[in-house]
Amino acid sequence: MAATTEERIQAIARAILGAAREDKPSRLSREHIQGEMMEWAMADGRLKVEMLRFVDVFPALHSRSEMSRHLREYFAHQGVAAPRMLRWGISLTGGRSPVAPLAGSVIRRQLRGFAQRFIVGRDARDAIPALKALRDAGTGFTLDVLGEATVSEAEAHAYQTTYLGLLDGLAAAAAGWPHNAVVDEAAWGPLPRVNLSLKITSLYSQIDPVDFEGSVTAVKDRLRPIFRKGIETGAALTLDLEQFRYRDLTLAVFTSLLDEDEFRSYDLAGIVLQAYLRDADKDLDGLLAWARDRRRVFSLRLVKGAYWDYETVIAAQEGWPVPVFTHKPDTDAMYEKLTRVMLLSADVVRPAFASHNVRSLAVAIETARELGLADDAYEIQMLHGMGDPIKTAVRGMGLRLREYAPVGELIPGMAYLVRRLLENTANDSFLRQTFVEGAAADELVLPPRTSADFGAEPQRLPGVRAADPDDPGAFVNQPHADFARRECREAYLAALDAVRSRGSRHYPLRIGGRDVETARSLESVDPASPGDVLGSVAYGGRAEAEAAVAAARAALPGWRDTPAKERAAVLFRAAELMRGEGRELAALETLEAGKTRREANADVDEAIDFLEYYGREMLRLGKPRRMGSVPGEHNVYFYQPRGVALVIVPWNFPLAILTGMTSAALVAGCPVIVKPAGPTPLIAVQMVRLLEAAGAPAGTVNFLPSPGGEVGDFLVRHPGVDLIAFTGSMDVGLSIISHAVQHPAADGVKKVIAEMGGKNAIIVDADADLDVAVAETIVSAFHYSGQKCSAASRVIVLEAAHDDFVRRLVEATRSLRIGPPADPGTRVGPVITAEAKARIEGFIEQGKREATLAAALEPPEGGWPGGGYYVAPHVFVDVKPGAVIAREEIFGPVVAVLKATDLDEALTIANGVKYALTGGLISRSPATIDRVRREFRVGNLYINRGITGALVERQAFGGFKMSGVGSKAGGPDYLLQFLEPRVITENTMRRGFAPPEELLAD
Ligand SMILES: Cc1cc2nc3c(=O)[nH]c(=O)nc-3n(C[C@H](O)[C@H](O)[C@H](O)COP(=O)(O)OP(=O)(O)OC[C@H]3O[C@@H](n4cnc5c(N)ncnc54)[C@H](O)[C@@H]3O)c2cc1C
Repeated sequence: MAATTEERIQAIARAILGAAREDKPSRLSREHIQGEMMEWAMADGRLKVEMLRFVDVFPALHSRSEMSRHLREYFAHQGVAAPRMLRWGISLTGGRSPVAPLAGSVIRRQLRGFAQRFIVGRDARDAIPALKALRDAGTGFTLDVLGEATVSEAEAHAYQTTYLGLLDGLAAAAAGWPHNAVVDEAAWGPLPRVNLSLKITSLYSQIDPVDFEGSVTAVKDRLRPIFRKGIETGAALTLDLEQFRYRDLTLAVFTSLLDEDEFRSYDLAGIVLQAYLRDADKDLDGLLAWARDRRRVFSLRLVKGAYWDYETVIAAQEGWPVPVFTHKPDTDAMYEKLTRVMLLSADVVRPAFASHNVRSLAVAIETARELGLADDAYEIQMLHGMGDPIKTAVRGMGLRLREYAPVGELIPGMAYLVRRLLENTANDSFLRQTFVEGAAADELVLPPRTSADFGAEPQRLPGVRAADPDDPGAFVNQPHADFARRECREAYLAALDAVRSRGSRHYPLRIGGRDVETARSLESVDPASPGDVLGSVAYGGRAEAEAAVAAARAALPGWRDTPAKERAAVLFRAAELMRGEGRELAALETLEAGKTRREANADVDEAIDFLEYYGREMLRLGKPRRMGSVPGEHNVYFYQPRGVALVIVPWNFPLAILTGMTSAALVAGCPVIVKPAGPTPLIAVQMVRLLEAAGAPAGTVNFLPSPGGEVGDFLVRHPGVDLIAFTGSMDVGLSIISHAVQHPAADGVKKVIAEMGGKNAIIVDADADLDVAVAETIVSAFHYSGQKCSAASRVIVLEAAHDDFVRRLVEATRSLRIGPPADPGTRVGPVITAEAKARIEGFIEQGKREATLAAALEPPEGGWPGGGYYVAPHVFVDVKPGAVIAREEIFGPVVAVLKATDLDEALTIANGVKYALTGGLISRSPATIDRVRREFRVGNLYINRGITGALVERQAFGGFKMSGVGSKAGGPDYLLQFLEPRVITENTMRRGFAPPEELLAD
């Protein structure tokens, strides 16, 4: 009986496997020793983490002592079972032994050797002998350029130059190479000898799916010369696929570039498809439809995907649906499904199957045969340095094989190496199972057993349900909009149109649940275009302030006695309403507060988080607690609201902070008088409306816009106010505290919660990953023009990293786009008002007198667009710790870089200011991280990430020293500030009889 397709697939897979398993490296070969390193990593999860981290930091260790220190920190501590050879190395490199330098250099050589296993050379010239050797052995290549993350346009330009140089250099060398039919000819004709793979993220530093069109345009501008060179030299060019967030961008770049006249007949262009993506089949359908419509051919490389860990971690952190399969056989099954479709599409596709998995390869080989395609109608591709025995077996079958061959320096190559290490040592890896676990051939060749996920329609957006006050479930952060998804981009644009089309409206005050008009009104303008009046609100004076206090006091008894669950229910309903209107609220923030779309959306999400979090917190705190357990006595500990709360909010998180402070007071049972910030009253109007719609009774939320200090002062001193919650500058905060002491409430001492300023620093260690340090400094210092109390305004860099860091930071700063926040390409929008602009500019002038200006963007010719309040980001270097710009809060896009000789000095500088709000450390030394955790005394310390963007609960936010008096917003102690604890003790014994404990009610 003839064998079935499945039997033939398994037979092919077995044949490849059999041949490959005979070809094991000898015990003494370099491959064997490096293979042993991987075996250690595979044997022990903890050791694997440390090895990955050590490989990552290794290129940044410039001296023997640094290497020795890091080796010890990574491997010589409890919990890591370092292999004997490694322990030997550690003990020697650290000691005074004469062989110490030798041991250091052995480890260095080993790691370099390890890297060289995956990298063919430093550059084109260096790689040529290895590439020629590959061809001589019957293997083609596609070159990949390793590099640092592109953080500036100078770096993007350098990549472009490298790609162009490689094409020229390789074309010249390749012309002299002898013809090799296996790699130079395909079923459709001759093949190019030079084949280059490109990453679009290397070519544009500001690439971001939030600016989809702008990113496509910018990448294409950089790609055009490369594609022209490809045509001129007859080279093949393939666009790699990277993280999911760039998937749609890459596809759009590919198809739209090739639609341009000059590239219409270039048929050596290719793209990658990642089978681990749940909707990879739709990508393939789209590409095929495009090619057929254009009557053109293109190369398609099918891979499984190299960012599996990254994608799953990011999705979990963001609360997004995971874009990749999570059951390995589903990925394999998708690979097999796409393989067939690709081979059935030979009219438009030149297929390449990139895998080291013999089952996956066998499916391609057998399907091609079954469809009557010649063996050279497709090719097999593998990574340089991986699965060599499988390569030999595939070549032995006369099939065309191409290696993906990275070129580059060791340092920039580390991200690539870490990915390869992860891949090689993952439990699910085919190579691991084949060559390390020694899985039986019968198992390895079986068809993938898919889960229910396979074939199910992938979820595109997170699903969030309204909380039920009876059973709200655990708190989770509202997922941010994922702008890699078209629907999120479109929803925001539609919201922006909707808000704009509403035109300018006027809103009254709300006092005691009623509209109150006044003679005066306050206009709200767009800081990017101050001539545009967005709307206006009535402006309250003393009389209205008095009325607001009276309304709040009248509401107090009823609201105080409303069960906590009902108060929490108001917050949960408001959260649901806010979710429904979220995009429009974000669009309004863009216009009124000058927030870019990502920042504006994040602010709305945080407001929702506060509602959800404080609602749950009040349910927790609202349950009276029994204290003690002696018979005859009943003790209950419970809380009552402090009374009427005055909430004074800033404009920089116009919905989040406003909603956080208001809802905390409200849910605690305190009626509120909301005094919104002068520049952002329209957003405040929306919050008040939503709280009322959610069921906040009349008088519990009173809305009293009143710019300037007069009404604020009056309310702060008012005896009818019991508590003041304030977020803003240190000067105003201190003045409120002092007035509150001097003017107590009618019922006692006024409580003040004051969140004040910061002068936040990031310490950049000598061994820091500068890709991270630069990118995160840019975000922390310049996004929202530095107008966050958490923003970075100082960077303290250890000497060894200083010059490289500054060079890259300066270029990254110069690459930022300044403009209207509604424009998706804008990274830095305007500052909030003319006064803020003048104040920041005063600090810039001060900076010029006391330090060196290293970067500042000039306004475009004709000035900033729309007459907006723009201030270009400024970087000052050579700043002394005592300088004004190193001590005072600027609240603008100005960053001071200070040099420190060692960690002691860095910590002294970092702690040497009056504030203690946020701080950051970029370091790869466990000991440094440990010490900075203890000694950098700030409210929120962030390690190896930016220092802004705190999330409710996960990064409960707030500082001490002059940064504030009060507990962390979005944290478990916050609501307590709005509550007074009481204890009631009852003697339950009467006439010698005490009822049993369990019969007593709580
Ligand atoms: C020539 C070439 C070019 C490449 N270009 C790219 C590229 O542009 N972009 C890119 O992303 N990758 C690229 N890769 C890398 C490629 O994606 C990985 O090498 C490949 O995923 C390893 O798969 P495998 O079939 O060899 O091994 P296997 O061991 O069969 O598969 C491992 C893969 O399965 C997937 N996986 C692992 N665990 C799970 C799980 N729990 N659930 C679901 N899936 C899981 C992951 O994709 C993982 O890499 C390229 C590889 C080659 C050979």
